[in-house]
Amino acid sequence: MAETTMEKIVSLCKRRGFIFQSSEIYGGLSGAWDYGPLGVQLKNNIRDFWWKEMTQMHDNIVGLDASILMHPKVWEASGHVANFTDPMVDCKQCKNRFRADQIDLTAACPNCGTKDSFTEPRNFNLMFSTHIGAVHDEGSTIYLRPETAQGIYLDFKNVVQSSRVKIPFGIAQVGKAFRNEITTKNFIFRSLEFEQMEMQYFVKPGSDEKWFSFWREQRMEFYHKMGITPSRLRWHRHGPDELAFYAKDAYDIQFLFPMGWQELEGVHNRTDYDLNQHQKFSGKDLSYLEQETHERYIPYVVETSAGLTRNVLMALSDAYTEETLEGGDVRTVLRFHPAIAPITVAVLPLVKKDGISELSEKLERQLREDFATFYDQGGAIGRRYRRMDEIGTPYCVTVDYQTLDDNTVTLRFRDSMEQVRVHLDDLVARIHLETKQYKRVEE
Ligand code: ATP
Repeated sequence: MAETTMEKIVSLCKRRGFIFQSSEIYGGLSGAWDYGPLGVQLKNNIRDFWWKEMTQMHDNIVGLDASILMHPKVWEASGHVANFTDPMVDCKQCKNRFRADQIDLTAACPNCGTKDSFTEPRNFNLMFSTHIGAVHDEGSTIYLRPETAQGIYLDFKNVVQSSRVKIPFGIAQVGKAFRNEITTKNFIFRSLEFEQMEMQYFVKPGSDEKWFSFWREQRMEFYHKMGITPSRLRWHRHGPDELAFYAKDAYDIQFLFPMGWQELEGVHNRTDYDLNQHQKFSGKDLSYLEQETHERYIPYVVETSAGLTRNVLMALSDAYTEETLEGGDVRTVLRFHPAIAPITVAVLPLVKKDGISELSEKLERQLREDFATFYDQGGAIGRRYRRMDEIGTPYCVTVDYQTLDDNTVTLRFRDSMEQVRVHLDDLVARIHLETKQYKRVEE
């Protein structure tokens, strides 16, 4: 099995329209990325898979879409103004900037090799700031949110008062976040603008450890359900020096990316820190009254915080395979779970003549009701299959002369390349069933 490198993924993503560098025609803006036709579909599918898992499959989680811009006091209360910093150093020789916690300060500069060239570490706040209105004074400064979580805390009371939720319950949100990262490498792994999928679960103090362990289990299961190779996922528990100052306990789900094991999602016990802080800074009561016991308390929060765009990189890295076929041909396949593949079904007429194209086009239009489809009649059938394999399309339907006789088509499976004949009346149900029962064939 050939090694999956980041170069191969980046190249496929550009070639097939998954991900482009932002502002490429101007030389690019590093740390910012555009999701092309297939990339946005993949990203939306992962988002929808998460959203369904969180809000539809749990009976006590509701959704929210809070504003990116919030009152500046929010970030004072949350601790981001004072603490959301990374220590950075500059190389005096080549002027490159590094995160002090990511390099050996006693070694030579990793960029130019000069010894003893680093400045003293300085703290650098990661929040992007901007201004409201025409006057750029201190009073007009606002921030682009560096995490989606705070919007959820601010609306905690609104949700309790307007919905029939009762503790324990969760609020889920997907949206953009911005961080002025010192180093942005490894493609979309760490970018300045990214998307998060966060869920804050509000629980009674004392029950937090139970829910913390419940959510750890759920979150790992989610990735298995999404078809990610289990041996490429692991837990990392934060040691005392990694733990955020507000957190009681924290675990990361790490994934084995092409550059090594890295964080994919954090599951954190944030205690009552955030709600307490917002209560203090806003002067508004954010406590919760338990109907049954008449107890009043500030809930504890168990947070599951995943990067959506980082999930896209995980899905691509995990799916990417190069297979040598009989005869020596190499095929590149993205083995996405069918639930997240950008295109689910491709319809391919074996030949263009004798009404076969027309029948195929009609079939493709019918399938659109249920699936993301693609119609391709250009080139040899083998090449068309390869093109679909390379973008991870799990099913190809081929229409041929036999179809004209008996209304059956060939259904071809991406992973096994196996082909079966299916009656047109059974096609939609069969594809739904195959998707539901999908198991990735292990290499
Ligand atoms: P790191 O220590 O790597 O900077 P973090 O621990 O600060 O990350 P969190 O604040 O816990 O990250 O963010 C939750 C999730 O959001 C991360 O697990 C990651 O998937 C995603 N994320 C955070 N920063 C970025 C970024 N700059 N680009 C893309 N995704 C990010």
